[in-house]
Amino acid sequence: VSPVRYLDRSRATVAAAADLAALAERMRRLAPAADAAGAIPDGLFDGIDVRWLNRAYLPLELGGDPAFADGVTRCLATETLGYADASLTVALPGPSLSLSPLLELGTEEQRRDLLGRFDSPDPVWGAFAITEPSGGSDATHLATTASREDGGYRLAGEKCFIGNAGRASFVVVFASVDPSRGRLGIQPLVVDRDAPGLTVDDTAPMLGLRALRVARLRFEDCWVPEERLLGAASGRTSARAFLSAQRSWDYMRPALSSLMLGAVERLLDDLRELGDDAGDAVVRRSAAALADRVRPRLASARLLAHHAAATFDAGDDASVLSSMAKTAAAGLARATVAEAVAAVGVAGLGAHRIARDVERWARDFQAFELLEGTTEVHQLMIARGWSAQSRRRRRSTAARGAAA
Ligand SMILES: Cc1cc2nc3c(=O)[nH]c(=O)nc-3n(C[C@H](O)[C@H](O)[C@H](O)COP(=O)(O)OP(=O)(O)OC[C@H]3O[C@@H](n4cnc5c(N)ncnc54)[C@H](O)[C@@H]3O)c2cc1C
Repeated sequence: VSPVRYLDRSRATVAAAADLAALAERMRRLAPAADAAGAIPDGLFDGIDVRWLNRAYLPLELGGDPAFADGVTRCLATETLGYADASLTVALPGPSLSLSPLLELGTEEQRRDLLGRFDSPDPVWGAFAITEPSGGSDATHLATTASREDGGYRLAGEKCFIGNAGRASFVVVFASVDPSRGRLGIQPLVVDRDAPGLTVDDTAPMLGLRALRVARLRFEDCWVPEERLLGAASGRTSARAFLSAQRSWDYMRPALSSLMLGAVERLLDDLRELGDDAGDAVVRRSAAALADRVRPRLASARLLAHHAAATFDAGDDASVLSSMAKTAAAGLARATVAEAVAAVGVAGLGAHRIARDVERWARDFQAFELLEGTTEVHQLMIARGWSAQSRRRRRSTAARGAAA
């Protein structure tokens, strides 16, 4: 890094740290209201220019914030926000998972138009829609179709559990343009939130992460002009189109894992505070014992998330590492909150202010196991990744032996 760039980056980091701390403080204060309303409460962004937040994940050359230019820094930032509130963190503005398909498959014009929307002082969201009512784990079989017609595509089908869709400026929708080709026939298309033929229903009550407002999308006779197909103009194949979804997850999962770890850290701190505040020796002892057991796992899960982020940044395959990071963080969160709930219940402190937070986190942490792939599916992906690696190792050992 050149000295000038380094200095720019240091200045940006100091500014971003102050912005981050101010936002985290508001999120912490407004979290119970966000959960009660299942929405982003009034006041979260009042008087704040959120351009830095809108663009935190964008690459520098496309207007990204220099303070968040590397994956490990993004993990640290997300951990800070997760400590404040998990539900509001996943509801924050930015392109989120929609970014990778735009970066990898979008033409310069598509990127300028769509990513340019994030250059705004007001919050702007992008949404990413792959999951369908028939099941989200196997994203290679999609029932949503995009039928080719003169000058564009006609979308038909349904998506579900789509985060932030109701407030998004656009949705990157994965659909089958050629069902006979299976996974190779899947292509992402960009659909404006207010496109005719798209209905967004985000009113279904959710148990956890309620501020995210996951939505069901219905496409009926929804016309998408040709220039909104990602990957067509660049001449890239459909295989690459589907891989761009995998890259989105590889990119986001380390930060998502860090969010969960921040939330676990907060739970440990607040459980201790509850014991002190209520003068309850049982909760105090449980909180101390839980922290002793969880902190080493927290530290190793944090290193795993950072390693996955740095591996992605280096341009290497981060799929297995990001699956491991996500599984480790989600499992730790679930186990820790279950013990916290038991400690609070046994002490009969359910009515305490902090106990109500613990109850909210128990619901939020449950969703960690599902979003961006369930734990069972990640375990499968990890096992497949390891077998592929060991096959490659065996082949190269055999080749070396033959050469000798
Ligand atoms: C809060 C939240 C936000 C989300 N945001 C988005 C979003 O923005 N965009 C989007 O596209 N999706 C989103 N999702 C969807 C999420 O990615 C899916 O919920 C997830 O992929 C699982 O799909 P499913 O719920 O349909 O479960 P299914 O695929 O129907 O699976 C049901 C159960 O079967 C298990 N299972 C499935 N296949 C296997 C297998 N081969 N071996 C062993 N067990 C298996 C699963 O682990 C699960 O327990 C979100 C989900 C949540 C909860």
